[in-house]
Amino acid sequence: MFDLERILLFHLELTDKCNAACPMCGRTQPADRCRPDRAKVKNIELTLGDICKAFTPKICRRILQIDLCGGLGDPPAASQCLEICEYFVAQGVIVTLSTNGGLRNAKWWRQLGEIFRRNDSLVEFHIDGLEDTNHLYRVNTRFSKIMENARHYLDSGATGEWHFIVFRHNQHQVEEAVTLSRQLGFSNFKLIDTIRFGKEKRFEYQAPDGNIRCLEPSTMPAVDLRRNTGQPDVDVSATSYIENRDSLHVNGIKCKSAIQNRPYIVADGSVSACCWIQGSDDEKQMYLRASHRPENHNILQRPLEEILTEEPFISIYRSAWENGNNPVCIRKCGQMRRNVRLTL
Ligand code: SF4
Repeated sequence: MFDLERILLFHLELTDKCNAACPMCGRTQPADRCRPDRAKVKNIELTLGDICKAFTPKICRRILQIDLCGGLGDPPAASQCLEICEYFVAQGVIVTLSTNGGLRNAKWWRQLGEIFRRNDSLVEFHIDGLEDTNHLYRVNTRFSKIMENARHYLDSGATGEWHFIVFRHNQHQVEEAVTLSRQLGFSNFKLIDTIRFGKEKRFEYQAPDGNIRCLEPSTMPAVDLRRNTGQPDVDVSATSYIENRDSLHVNGIKCKSAIQNRPYIVADGSVSACCWIQGSDDEKQMYLRASHRPENHNILQRPLEEILTEEPFISIYRSAWENGNNPVCIRKCGQMRRNVRLTL
């Protein structure tokens, strides 16, 4: 699955800590005042020492980009996030950091900008609305604080993108948010259609104050909202990244991680094929077939290069795809059931 001779990308969760409590996030209990789910959230993080040990200068020479994006946490919540970014940039690795933008202060964001502008690294600010709506999904965040942080980051000359999940409660604000993003100096504005509603038309949650609230999907798909802003009708879908590497297409499954050569590392140090399969029953089955324990695949225990060139990554995943017995892979990389992102 992973080839150390090819250029590598990584998806890296620095921490499972977060300031926000988004109701549809895996860390949140929507029925219990959006409190963190303690069965999943351990309040852990990777340190600069952990990162330097795993991501040696030798392997960094083969890495084009690292995406700091939490499965459960917000990267700036990691104590040494800034130092870790500085390390990667010094190694020539481009960093993409995804955040709700609500943590840290002006000085921190300016310092991050100074680091990121050295090699075109970027921050994706996930802001789903304006002053009166963003907190309806990004529970516990403050819009004014996010704007202040974004301003200081962008004023450094570094690149930032505004990512906006469309709901019914914010769909009328897309044009205003696009205008604001241009004024602030964001380089891109991305609209996201989330698949987290599934077949449901509503998602009820209990807010921290005890009130019951309800999220609803946008009544207009992102592609129509995009058209309303006068953008040319170019299709930039969730599948646009896929390269034509036929050798990596197996039985209708186009494994995003194999094609991009992009392993996933969790805040406890575990190495996995991707964030969708990590911790799933499918992954456990894969390790059973490989006759070894997932605990062996942890950057706190063993060298990253060794882990990536062992089973189940050598042949077990491929044989699962050939036999069609890996439901997560079929859903995500066979049927492409993923969020859709459109650039404005
Ligand atoms: S879900 Fe399966 S096929 Fe898709 S990226 Fe993850 S491991 Fe690969």
